Amino acid sequence: MPTKNKILVTGGAGFIGSHLVDCLTEKGNRITVFDNLSSGKIGFIENHLENPDFTLIKGDLLDHKAIERACKDIDLVFHVAANPDVRLGASDTKIHFDQNILATYNLLEAMRKNSVKKVAFTSTSTIYGEAHIMPTPENYGPLLPISLYGASKLACEALITSYSHTFDMQAWIFRFANIVGPRSTHGITVDFIRKLQENPIQLEILGDGKQEKSYLHVSECVDAILFAIEKSKEDVNIFNIGSEDTISATGIGRAIVEEMKLSEVKFIYTGGNRGWKGDVPRMRLDIEKLKDIGWKPAYTSERSVRETARTLLDEYYN
Ligand code: NAD
Repeated sequence: MPTKNKILVTGGAGFIGSHLVDCLTEKGNRITVFDNLSSGKIGFIENHLENPDFTLIKGDLLDHKAIERACKDIDLVFHVAANPDVRLGASDTKIHFDQNILATYNLLEAMRKNSVKKVAFTSTSTIYGEAHIMPTPENYGPLLPISLYGASKLACEALITSYSHTFDMQAWIFRFANIVGPRSTHGITVDFIRKLQENPIQLEILGDGKQEKSYLHVSECVDAILFAIEKSKEDVNIFNIGSEDTISATGIGRAIVEEMKLSEVKFIYTGGNRGWKGDVPRMRLDIEKLKDIGWKPAYTSERSVRETARTLLDEYYN
């Protein structure tokens, strides 16, 4: 990535966004974080607050005037803000429409009006739905998401590619596996640690525990994003980002029990082949496209989960 860009990071105070901000600042860019702090935390970015090349705007993407002002003089936008809670869609059908689709539309309009020409978007494996090809490549279709979250992110992708064509923008779309690491505030690793803190002799696992998914450490995720932006020059560049293997829900349970140095924990299963309505039981992404340009992950899913458990236990629970 060329340095000294003026970069806007929506959702830059969140889990993945704040790690991205750490890397982008380290490379000497001028960073503006636009975040409503709904799940993001000042603590995740506080080491940058004194940096003259860093600005925090506490703003909401649903406030189109605020995002329009934030896009002034920006070279590149990392659009990371979203409501990433897949489960929510079953009880609230509007949240992903507003926080993901409408928010992305507002951002793209703000970019268009300010002639901002580059956008990188954090999408997700859930846009593939229950894919029949595993590992699933970027050109897999038809794309039939089974969660409202996945549907909303697919709609965002479509908005981005159409804006890119219509208004001569350049876009990078990154479809993530499950991302884990320090500062993560949601997901199975965090859930299991919380549950085991509350009850160290029993762990409730949603579904039958056989769900098999790919997990990637956030440090590798951010590295892959920046590498791909540097190396790919199409108008629209789509990349899966994930590890090359999977781990089951029960496997994660076992790893966390070991990392917490617990013994004789009884696993209780809620039953069924998925954790909740909208949960995709098997997910592994084909990352050949990323490997072709020269990037590959160093960690397995299990190592990423174990490292995450260790840091979360150090960060929050000791
Ligand atoms: P997160 O909740 O930690 O980060 C989202 C950030 O966006 C937060 O800081 C939040 O305050 C901010 N935000 C939310 N709505 C906003 C709004 N209307 N206006 C301004 N700011 C707003 O989540 P995360 O796990 O870091 O996810 C980051 C991105 O990566 C999301 O787009 C998510 O869909 C995507 N993603 C995450 C994973 C994962 O495993 N964590 C997997 C696939 C895709």
